[in-house]
Amino acid sequence: RHTSPPPLLLLLLPSPCPAGSSCSSRCVYCRSVFSQSENGRGRCRDAPDPALHCLHQWTCVWCAESLLYHCMSDSEGEFWEPCSCEDSLGEGRPHPLCCARWLALLALSLFVPCMCCYLPLRACLRCGERCGCCGGKHKAVR
Ligand SMILES: [Zn+2]
Repeated sequence: RHTSPPPLLLLLLPSPCPAGSSCSSRCVYCRSVFSQSENGRGRCRDAPDPALHCLHQWTCVWCAESLLYHCMSDSEGEFWEPCSCEDSLGEGRPHPLCCARWLALLALSLFVPCMCCYLPLRACLRCGERCGCCGGKHKAVR
């Protein structure tokens, strides 16, 4: 069984290999091991994506998100994307607040029509991620 050093130790260790080499390092965002040679755009789902950030700004989704965050984050303060129905508990059933979120988004989109552009544009971004032309990259722990 592969054992990795505890995260703190990992941070203290110098980077085992220079940037651009093909040996693997751990990503600060998703904590998975990746190799520098395979690290392209869209590889890291947890990395901040500037394109997605712009999309949020343009389509006013950020105001919907902040609204939903204040109204609908659950007891543990967990908050998920307003358009995501993924189960936060990992039990394979939809999040109980999913329907409420969709209804709130629907109501909001009547007032903020540019929000309707979000979903198709988001789909484009997802395609771009698959093609490796946009999306976040892994970032090695230093
Ligand atoms: Zn990553």
